[in-house]
Amino acid sequence: MSLSPIVAGAWRLADWTWNAAERLAWIEGCLDLGVTSFDHADIYGGYRVEELFGEALALSPSVRQRLQLVTKCGIRLCHPARSAHRIKHYDTSAPHIIASAEESLRLLGTDYLDVLLLHRPDPLMDADEVARAFDELRTSGKVRYFGVSNFSPAQYDVLQSRTPLVTNQIEWHPLHRAPLTDGTLDHCQRRRIRPMIWSPLAGGTLFTGEEAAARRVRGMLQQIAIARGVSAATIAFAWLLRHPSRPIPIAGSGRLEAMREAVAATTIRLDAQEWTEIYTAGTGRDVP
Ligand code: NAP
Repeated sequence: MSLSPIVAGAWRLADWTWNAAERLAWIEGCLDLGVTSFDHADIYGGYRVEELFGEALALSPSVRQRLQLVTKCGIRLCHPARSAHRIKHYDTSAPHIIASAEESLRLLGTDYLDVLLLHRPDPLMDADEVARAFDELRTSGKVRYFGVSNFSPAQYDVLQSRTPLVTNQIEWHPLHRAPLTDGTLDHCQRRRIRPMIWSPLAGGTLFTGEEAAARRVRGMLQQIAIARGVSAATIAFAWLLRHPSRPIPIAGSGRLEAMREAVAATTIRLDAQEWTEIYTAGTGRDVP
């Protein structure tokens, strides 16, 4: 799997209410910054985002060769577009995985996905059945690599015992530090897989949150940013990139300037004291 060091997240794309030309301009702007990988899910924007992205790509078909597409499947939402769903639930059956991947291909207007992830751990997941679905999609050339999202190390290992996986896409930022202590990032190092990181800025809360921890983290990010001559957002991305598991953050902004700030972090290596200052701003106490 070869993704760009910063991935662009398409979750909020429908909220930006852009026309297809504006969506293409964002895609091309990301590419110009070296952000060549785009993260999707079948459900984003109420099952709309993949189609909106595909419409933009159709305006300039050669762009597809310059980017990598990651998408996800396995969540079934209650939504007018899916009237048969009585309750939000998970479905990792082979027919659903294959049908969802094929629908993603159709909506994105492409004949292959670079990476397909199971969006959430499914208590009813049959690892052998998922492996059969992945094998079929791989053999037919429809999907190149497979992974998971929000899986615990144990859940990851069950599926990895049946079929090769390349990543676990997880939430991690200074206000959500659990992956550092619950074994998730240790597991990535043990498996030598690079985690993809969602909501690297806590969905913007790092800069807008009023809780004490958010205020402390924001203050520390700003202090280090001033000393380094970069933006606080750049330091927030650098904090993630410093980890030896070589994380791949997914930036979720529609502003190309915010994408530029994320990319700028790839040239910064925080030292252990700077890193710990941000960590302890989150916890509110010194490390033991
Ligand atoms: P994020 O980068 O943490 O948050 C993006 C939000 O922060 C946007 O609303 C953005 O607003 C705002 N923001 C960015 N810079 C800011 C700043 N300097 N000051 C104030 N606000 C700022 O990421 P995210 O969108 O939550 O998630 C990123 C991607 O992860 C998603 O697009 C999706 O692909 C993926 N994801 C995956 C899962 C999963 O379960 N696997 C779950 C959630 C998300 P502007 O647009 O105005 O900059």
